[in-house]
Amino acid sequence: MKCQIPDETIEQVVNFHGHSCPGLAIGIRASELARRELGELPDSEIVCVAETDMCGVDAVQYLTGCTFGKGNLIHRDYGKMAFTFFNRKEGRGFRCLLKSEARNGISDEMSKLQRKIAAGEASEEEQMRCNELRRQMEERLTMSDLDELFEVMEPKEPMPRSARILASLVCEACGEATMESRTRRFAGRTLCQPCFDRVEQKA
Ligand SMILES: [Zn+2]
Ligand SMILES: [Zn+2]
Repeated sequence: MKCQIPDETIEQVVNFHGHSCPGLAIGIRASELARRELGELPDSEIVCVAETDMCGVDAVQYLTGCTFGKGNLIHRDYGKMAFTFFNRKEGRGFRCLLKSEARNGISDEMSKLQRKIAAGEASEEEQMRCNELRRQMEERLTMSDLDELFEVMEPKEPMPRSARILASLVCEACGEATMESRTRRFAGRTLCQPCFDRVEQKA
């Protein structure tokens, strides 16, 4: 079944992100999948672990209410088109990964052209071809069945702990207050991460 999210909502997502693109479409469909698997959940009960920080995350933030600021969006810098969603109350969730077949026949040519365009070496024809491929990719992402796009599996990590009400400590090098869980110990001193990195480099 094609994307069931109303056009007006899609328009709002595109406005939020700044443009429409294949990456955003992936996030839109992943959010739709979250709704299918977990039902409609209030912000306080849904958590997302995103394994990418590209365009698609904006759709997830807008559509699911999982945001960095609320602490219910967690980024793992794995560079994968994968999202794990949890229902906090029920303690269950799922991980979805974009199938490589979803990009077959488009993405190889498209990334070659995008590199050429970025390097300023693309002809007008190649730019048009790239736009056409992007359009095709977006259309495929929008029209395909969710199960054609994503592999759905068990989460690969436990559900993240809820609401971060954590104490701050003062870094003994720069004097800036730092969330306790982010501080490091070095030679008996409490340090923030950047100061720890500096000291460790010198050591
Ligand atoms: Zn984008
Ligand atoms: Zn510091």
